[in-house]
Amino acid sequence: MCGIAGIYSHKSVAAELYDCIIHLQHRGQDAAGIMTYDDRMHKEKGMGLAKDVFNKKNMSLLTGNIGISHNRYPTHGGFSHGEVQPFWTSVPYGIALAHNGNLTNYRELAEEITKQDSRYLNTNSDTEVLLHLFADQLHENIPSKSNENFFDILCEAVTSIFEKVTGAYSVTAMIIGKGLVVFRDPYGIRPLVRGERTNGNGRKDFIFASENTMFYSLGFEPKGTVLPGEIIYVNNEGQIFSRRLVHKNFNPCIFEYVYFARPDATLNDVSVYRSRLRMGQNLAKEWAKIHPNKKPDIVIPAPSTANTAALSFAHELGVRYSEGLYKNTFIGRTFIMPGQAERKKSVKYKLVPQELEIKNKKVLIMDDSIVRGNTSREIVRMLRDFGAKEVYFAVACPPVKSPCFYGVDMPTKAELIAGNKSTKEIEKFLEVDALLYQEINDLVEAVTRKGEHHIDRPCMACLDGNYVGNDMNNKKMNELETMRKNDRNRK
Ligand code: SF4
Repeated sequence: MCGIAGIYSHKSVAAELYDCIIHLQHRGQDAAGIMTYDDRMHKEKGMGLAKDVFNKKNMSLLTGNIGISHNRYPTHGGFSHGEVQPFWTSVPYGIALAHNGNLTNYRELAEEITKQDSRYLNTNSDTEVLLHLFADQLHENIPSKSNENFFDILCEAVTSIFEKVTGAYSVTAMIIGKGLVVFRDPYGIRPLVRGERTNGNGRKDFIFASENTMFYSLGFEPKGTVLPGEIIYVNNEGQIFSRRLVHKNFNPCIFEYVYFARPDATLNDVSVYRSRLRMGQNLAKEWAKIHPNKKPDIVIPAPSTANTAALSFAHELGVRYSEGLYKNTFIGRTFIMPGQAERKKSVKYKLVPQELEIKNKKVLIMDDSIVRGNTSREIVRMLRDFGAKEVYFAVACPPVKSPCFYGVDMPTKAELIAGNKSTKEIEKFLEVDALLYQEINDLVEAVTRKGEHHIDRPCMACLDGNYVGNDMNNKKMNELETMRKNDRNRK
């Protein structure tokens, strides 16, 4: 999972792109990069958090009014400096590109590019493949179509990407002398929102980003979402063009609402915060139906993604919401002292229980999801250690049974607890007195109940095994799981 942003402005964009990276830091903390252009490309990128990568000196080199940024959380490729986005190529024009997602036919595309087109790929990143496909297609079209509108040439290049590339990809790109380009895969799996502001000359500035979390502070007004299969182009003069090139179902990732996005974001015209409130509400109704005799004394969220759902869950049940587990937010990428490595992996290192909130109480823990189950079990043990009378567990998301191949870094099927155990078995494994997962239809209802959205049905492949791009079979899944294991081993 990553965060991307692109800005066309009447003034220098570097500082605003830095703010985008800060506001999207939760989407990727492994690396960050910014590229801008005026008469040439300027780039700064590196490993770590934005504050570790950028400083006054290198930021001052990022001149220009058009630029793109990237927060990296690797789901494909290696972990070296060379894999940090944006990527760029000098032919044609000079193109820089960043993407959020994962190409499921990466291997086939990489083979085509290296063998058929005699291109050299310098990394294992699918972004490099996407960049070359885009650049090659543009390059092929330019001589024969030199009299055509440049937006039409762009549309042809992106149409051919939609025909060739499977998987999830939201893309920002800039082309020297031409402007800013964004597009989103035909199913709109990964998010991409848009905003505008009127600049000092009465003309418009434009922003595109994975989430709209930075719009307010930068003075941009939200203008909805980039639609699936849509391309938007802002030329050098600030004119904007858009076209939806293919019309397939709109299947955005449901996990953005469950876990990944910041609660203050609005994605695909649906508020993440409101959807989480509805998740808690729906689950509480179900809890009261299934466990009428198991009313908890307090509801404690596993901090902090589950906070919002736990709040409405407690409200709906009429019990007290408690921050009985304190999360130390300063535990991040600090250096590790000798002997500290093992302790740092433990939940005890990150969460501190408050005895007064727990002792002699029937405690319900609410989490957004259960992946491997080990963290959940450690939390339950901690609560027992602190004197909880009974421990219940409610999960805002249905069982995660299958891996994600669309850009969220999830374990392999063998490592997913719900991929291998029934709910009863998981209840036993967690050592809880009762466990309840959200029903799939209740989750979908929570996300799609309100708002002027265009969602047909969210992607829920990790929950129901239905990969929306129809791009999976056992052989492909094995191949992608092996690729992911190899990537991890390289780390
Ligand atoms: Fe999101 Fe799951 Fe679909 Fe991946 S498989 S895009 S995590 S809903």
